[in-house]
Amino acid sequence: MLKSYSRAWCEIDYKAINHNLDEIQKLVGKTKIMGIVKANAYGHGDVACARQMAKWGVDFFGVSSIDEALNLRENGIDQDILILGYTPVEHFHYLYEKNIVQSLVSFEYAQKLNAFAKENDAMIRCHCKVDTGMCRTGIIYQDQDKHMDQIIAEYRLSNLSVEGIFSHFPVSDDLGVDSRTFTENQIRLFKEVIDNLKKEGIDCGIKHIQNSYGILNYMDLGMDYCRPGLLYMGVTSDDQIPILSNPDFIPIMSIYANVSLVKWIQEGQSVSYGRNFIATKPTKVATVSIGYADGIPRLLSNQGFEVLIHGKHCKVIGNICMDQCMVDVTDVENVKEGDICCFVGQMGQERVTIDTISRLAKTINNETMSAIAARVPRLEKR
Ligand SMILES: *Cc1c(COP(=O)(O)O)cnc(C)c1O
Repeated sequence: MLKSYSRAWCEIDYKAINHNLDEIQKLVGKTKIMGIVKANAYGHGDVACARQMAKWGVDFFGVSSIDEALNLRENGIDQDILILGYTPVEHFHYLYEKNIVQSLVSFEYAQKLNAFAKENDAMIRCHCKVDTGMCRTGIIYQDQDKHMDQIIAEYRLSNLSVEGIFSHFPVSDDLGVDSRTFTENQIRLFKEVIDNLKKEGIDCGIKHIQNSYGILNYMDLGMDYCRPGLLYMGVTSDDQIPILSNPDFIPIMSIYANVSLVKWIQEGQSVSYGRNFIATKPTKVATVSIGYADGIPRLLSNQGFEVLIHGKHCKVIGNICMDQCMVDVTDVENVKEGDICCFVGQMGQERVTIDTISRLAKTINNETMSAIAARVPRLEKR
């Protein structure tokens, strides 16, 4: 069993990433995996996740910003790194100094980046972003509005080495007819762009379009890379969303906190701010040292949210505080200071999942995991 480490901590099973990558690889055929480690790998530790993936054989990582890319470089990650988002002009120099690949967020942006590269007598590595329906970044190429000329022009800019092309799915998680039609049309548009480039005699470079749900629901699209975040972490956005494949992932994140004291309260006594829980019978209450500033959403207060103590399900009662919360342990024997309370993970025969937290907080696992605070240490599971 676990040893308590801090008042609250995450335990990350980095080794299980290997298994999860194997599961992804089974779905996507020959397509290679670009590990998305943006936002500190959704709270799991970007450097640790990247190191583990590199050992498995991942040779490309995706991040959201130049800071994240530089952090990987400073920590010895020397594989290719693609910045999926925007890099401001003041930081353009890092792109060629640190050999980082920039996605071209618009044609104007590509021109600006090219002018900078020219001035500095440098070549900057890039991937062309095509907007087939996300309406976020990239050159718009949708049925109503196609800008093939701009895409071709990007490839011909003198000081950009455009080595790849990609697009992104907004509704690959939804199996409804409209969403499937929309996504399939995106794939068609993306392939059309690639064909058009070929007709111009342009090598489009490496092609990638699938995020995690793109992998689960559109398995093998014959692309060069796919871009999973969630899946190597062993989860989806929400375990209630149906998917077309049946992979066997191991969730790599567990969350624990210590019990700081245990006391009995009587009928009529209230618990926590707002007095939203009032005991209807004598109740044994454990105070637990984790709260909303650690990333346990306050929305979970008084919703019957269950955690595990001594391997038994117990309800969080009263409003969740910034650094602490209270748990009803009336039915659990011998609970005492220093005992471990499991918010996500396995304890004995029982399991609590991040999906429950996300559902009660009306969000998705992507947000719940990436909102676990920096002050919560991430420990490697051994
Ligand atoms: C975040 C992101 C991904 C990874 O998304 P998941 O759903 O976690 O797999 C892939 N591609 C782009 C462009 C992203 O921004």
